[in-house]
Amino acid sequence: MTSAMDRRRFLGMGMAASAVAASPAKAMGWAFGQAAQVPDRVAQGREAALKTPITTTKLYDNVYLLQGAGGNMALQTGRDGLVLIDSSFSTSVPKVREAIAAVSHDSAEALINTHWHYDHTDGNEGMRAAGYSIYAHKNTRERMSTPQTIQFFHLVMPPSPAPALPSITFSDSMQAWHNGDSLDMVHFDPAHTDTDIYIHFQKANVLHVGDIWFNGFYPFIDESTGGAISGMINASAKALAVADGSTKIIPGHGPLGAKADLQKYHDMLSAVRDKVAALKAGGASEQEVVAKKPTADFDAAWGKGMLGGDVFAGIVYRTV
Ligand SMILES: [Zn+2]
Ligand SMILES: [Zn+2]
Repeated sequence: MTSAMDRRRFLGMGMAASAVAASPAKAMGWAFGQAAQVPDRVAQGREAALKTPITTTKLYDNVYLLQGAGGNMALQTGRDGLVLIDSSFSTSVPKVREAIAAVSHDSAEALINTHWHYDHTDGNEGMRAAGYSIYAHKNTRERMSTPQTIQFFHLVMPPSPAPALPSITFSDSMQAWHNGDSLDMVHFDPAHTDTDIYIHFQKANVLHVGDIWFNGFYPFIDESTGGAISGMINASAKALAVADGSTKIIPGHGPLGAKADLQKYHDMLSAVRDKVAALKAGGASEQEVVAKKPTADFDAAWGKGMLGGDVFAGIVYRTV
């Protein structure tokens, strides 16, 4: 028997489907309509950033970790000019510039984006105005140049203004010799999105892996811009292969970590993926898999951050 709720959901889906069929413009309007009913996470993030101080942690002679409301940032100082990784929210820019000025008076040089998401790139325009050239994977520029949808958050992102776009892009990898160190920038195959890279400061032995790693909690995987659970596992393995026992690893979110922490995260992702994949292969629906609590063994340790176990299990189911 079909409940009233099921009928409403079915009708709702039917309306959405016909809106999509009618015209792309209408479909976009529908998406914007949905967005109006849920909190605007971009506005929320910008608001939070206004009130969140930037903390600075020295990781090496000339390399620092900067943490605020958005994704974790890194800074390299030196005579060749400042290199900043990620730009947080637009509203953080004055605070980030103050935090940088507190440790260095070197000139602005390069901003590297770990991936396209707004909590890592919203400050790009402000940093460009401060003199930074922006580097990223070519897909980051592509996604920031065109409207994007992050379905999970009911977000439709308009294209970023031209000054916010990366002006130097690469496909697989890029190496820069800067301030006495070698910076390796390497693309991950689609993982959290299809734009993810890591940045390894070889001499300093600092590795920024962006949002392929949420240290200490279940990660968000952006299934609408190329993310998938197996990609996250492969990307973690790729980062583990770059790291050694003394590498300082900066996750996109959460505290600074070490190789052993990233290994635990990798193993958790693999175990959840394997459980969910087996249930899905046996014909279970998403709701049935979530009801079986495939993350139960991990929820106490990993389920207290951004996503609970049920929500994470749903993402894994949809992308496995
Ligand atoms: Zn992020
Ligand atoms: Zn992200």
